[in-house]
Amino acid sequence: ALTIGIVGLPNVGKSTLFNALTKNQVLAANYPFATIEPNVGVVNLPDARLATLAEIFGSEKILPAAVSFVDIAGIVRGASEGEGLGNKFLANIREADAIAQVVRGFEDGDVVHVDGAVDPAADMATINTELILADLETIDRALPRYEKEVKGKRMDKAILDAALEAKAILDEGVPLSARSIDLEPIRELGLLTAKPFIYVFNVDESVLGDQARLDELAALVAPAQAIFLDAKVESELIDLDPEDAAELLASTGQTESGLDQLARIGFATLGLQTYLTAGPKETRAWTIPQGAKAPQAAGVIHTDFERGFIKAEVISFDDLVATGSVAEARAKGKARMEGKDYVMQDGDVVEFRFNV
Ligand code: GDP
Repeated sequence: ALTIGIVGLPNVGKSTLFNALTKNQVLAANYPFATIEPNVGVVNLPDARLATLAEIFGSEKILPAAVSFVDIAGIVRGASEGEGLGNKFLANIREADAIAQVVRGFEDGDVVHVDGAVDPAADMATINTELILADLETIDRALPRYEKEVKGKRMDKAILDAALEAKAILDEGVPLSARSIDLEPIRELGLLTAKPFIYVFNVDESVLGDQARLDELAALVAPAQAIFLDAKVESELIDLDPEDAAELLASTGQTESGLDQLARIGFATLGLQTYLTAGPKETRAWTIPQGAKAPQAAGVIHTDFERGFIKAEVISFDDLVATGSVAEARAKGKARMEGKDYVMQDGDVVEFRFNV
């Protein structure tokens, strides 16, 4: 499954957020290095369309799409050199498909800041510098081998060229994701700054209500996406029933919980989308890469579906709701038969035809 690694300096609220993410009670302690083992939590992708479909089809259950999060141990200055939990941190983060960096925006005299002061820009620079240094080290370790292999004509020169190009960018202090270069030839290196990035600002209610401040923080990380939440509020929200949760959320001026935002934006950052299937047994969202064609989408349900793919009957969610049933959608010409070159669209309600 695709996972998003949660990183950030110690004491920025990662554990608090992660507790909310998983409803697990991971120890959230007020000292550096409290989170040692990485933990995986799975969060459902909120999708109001599923309930509507389940009603139309009389489905017994609803299965939403999900995003996995890995809580990765705290990083500090010097992590790339193996200080603190550095090496373990780097190994865990390498396996994540995207990175969500939690940045502290809340002021609280009782909670120590590792670098002495709450300064989001400085914190982000610290983390990014460590990631850049780690990538440089990875490349420097690979280069002698690449040079030797290319010299002996046992390796495509494109690999060496990509590594040198990446090194030049990192030497400037720039993360790789900020430049559009082709890193496919050196994918095996698992470079950290090449991964998609999301910034999660853990802020107080007062900041959540201060649009000018939010715009300022968002501008710091653009074009990467920024999410604003109060980790303490998030951890309270999970213990409330939906009505009370909505009320608490509204009182902080938000319409969507931070966790829902995280799932939604994380999903998009990973380049994913969903299509929907529905029947009396279940209504379900299936995860596919954006731009996936019909057979690949079928393969997510079962590999046999991809191999034996014939065609897909597709009704858009909106058409299905407007017509009220599959039969009515067919009668009104809203059900399309799509072949193997069809590019799946968000909100497609699909039934596959296949040979086994
Ligand atoms: P981590 O080291 O990044 O995992 O940080 P923790 O989640 O353990 O949080 C460190 C301390 O900050 C804990 O005492 C939390 O209760 C507190 N904390 C976390 N989020 C917030 C917040 O939004 N506001 C305030 N005031 N305190 C918070």
